[in-house]
Amino acid sequence: MPETVDVAVVGGGVIGLSVARELRLAGAGRVVVLEREASVGQGSSSRANGGVRAQFTTRANIEFSAFSIAELERLDAATGLLGFHQTGYLLLCGTEAGRDGLAEAFRLQRSLGVDARWLTPAEALELVPFLRPDGLLAATFHARDGFLDPHGVVAALRAEADRLAVEVATGTEVTAVEPAPGGGLDLRAGDRRMRAGVVVNAAGPAAGRFAALAGSELPVAPVRRNLAYVREPGGPGELIPMCVDLDTGVLIRREASGGFVVAWSDPQDPSSWDTTVDPRFLEQLAQRVGNRFPLLEDLPLDPRQCWAGLYPETPDHHAVIGRDPLVPALVHCAGFGGHGVMHAPAAGRAVAELVTLGGCRTFDLHPLRPARFAEGDLIVETAVL
Ligand SMILES: Cc1cc2nc3c(=O)[nH]c(=O)nc-3n(C[C@H](O)[C@H](O)[C@H](O)COP(=O)(O)OP(=O)(O)OC[C@H]3O[C@@H](n4cnc5c(N)ncnc54)[C@H](O)[C@@H]3O)c2cc1C
Repeated sequence: MPETVDVAVVGGGVIGLSVARELRLAGAGRVVVLEREASVGQGSSSRANGGVRAQFTTRANIEFSAFSIAELERLDAATGLLGFHQTGYLLLCGTEAGRDGLAEAFRLQRSLGVDARWLTPAEALELVPFLRPDGLLAATFHARDGFLDPHGVVAALRAEADRLAVEVATGTEVTAVEPAPGGGLDLRAGDRRMRAGVVVNAAGPAAGRFAALAGSELPVAPVRRNLAYVREPGGPGELIPMCVDLDTGVLIRREASGGFVVAWSDPQDPSSWDTTVDPRFLEQLAQRVGNRFPLLEDLPLDPRQCWAGLYPETPDHHAVIGRDPLVPALVHCAGFGGHGVMHAPAAGRAVAELVTLGGCRTFDLHPLRPARFAEGDLIVETAVL
């Protein structure tokens, strides 16, 4: 006979750990996290930049951020593990179309209680004196945004999961999923056989593959994203907001220990499992970084200090949360793109309510439902970084 569990969470990244923790807090019975790697948090979660922002363009993402920022603040205060620097995010643009988009997003954020501010170019320069202000038309800033250590988030969630008696089984890959008699799903997990009332798909970039293993379909695909670390001479400067040049898509932040982390994503990048740094990345960055951050043009970009990882992407840049239309015992919680670390608390709460209450009360999950792809009813996030 297989061992029985109430909920099996497949994937021990930030999302799976957050889901498991919230399930136990909501009173779910036996909860097991099944992670194929030798330890948790080794997938996309280990490659993230750690950015946290409420400055999105859709209600779903803004509400997830508002909830998550409060929880990340609490977790950091309680554990001291997150290294959460609330430097704010500064969004900058120099085109009229960009300004109109920023204004619309700003109004939506304010209407949802996010205390974003509209800045003049002079105010933006006060925050980041080395900014190139030429042609700057608009800037917004939200002081509770910032950045944190993704490994710290994994460590804090893991510690809470342990405290709440979640079983975390590492080195345990789920290789088969079948319907169980009377509902639920039977899993082959490493050398274990398991019967679960509910299975949560938190397999990150592999969530599409996992859905296929369970006999369904989910359009979550891996897309490679690159980051560079740029040394600066003279030791650590003052922290600055996470700066986003919306005209080029370049994003920079200063590390607390000095130097800058710089990112740029090519929207044309195809899906790929490759996690080596894209050889074109440094050149693409060099062409764009001077638009707002000329200081960085003069600093050495060292290819040995770049890294890459996978965004778990969906066609509309929103996560997928909800029961699978074909396999109702399967709940998806995946496809977080470049927002998975910052949205992990909200994702966990959403799934816990779905499973233990039969529906989510804290968030409207309708826009995130798995069926939206087949129905052609997508919501598109344009603030994709
Ligand atoms: C370069 C880069 C920068 C980023 N920057 C940010 C940022 O600034 N802010 C932000 O919020 N997010 C950022 N992200 C995105 C973020 O990292 C992801 O959205 C998030 O980590 C997704 O978490 P996850 O738990 O879904 O996936 P993962 O961390 O990949 O976890 C999924 C886990 O599932 C396991 N798994 C898969 N299949 C199976 C199976 N069959 N059986 C058992 N285990 C399985 C994997 O081993 C993995 O550990 C960035 C990502 C990258 C690559």
